[in-house]
Amino acid sequence: MESTERAEALARIDRLEEEIAQALREKDLAADGDERSDGHHHPAEAASDAEAREKQLREVLRLRDQLERLGRARLAIDAGTYGICADCGEPIPEGRLRALPDAERCVACQSKVPRRR
Ligand SMILES: [Zn+2]
Repeated sequence: MESTERAEALARIDRLEEEIAQALREKDLAADGDERSDGHHHPAEAASDAEAREKQLREVLRLRDQLERLGRARLAIDAGTYGICADCGEPIPEGRLRALPDAERCVACQSKVPRRR
């Protein structure tokens, strides 16, 4: 990987990390707000609140997961292994890395990984 490509990849990772950090801050604020406004809810409303909270929790976990992968991508850039599929060792296409800077596998290998819920 050339140094300009590395710099570009790092810039993409920086941007994405910032976006995720921002999204996580917003979700934290939303969660606090929910608890304070939890006053006189109809049971059905409470149920949908619980669903909404669960959905939000899953989203937060997904974002944290992505942050973790971005941290690993950063290390991989330093180590010179960024953009190499973790499973088959083939280079991950540039277009995929642009769209998903935290991609650790090529499309073919990723499709064989069981999706985490
Ligand atoms: Zn692969």
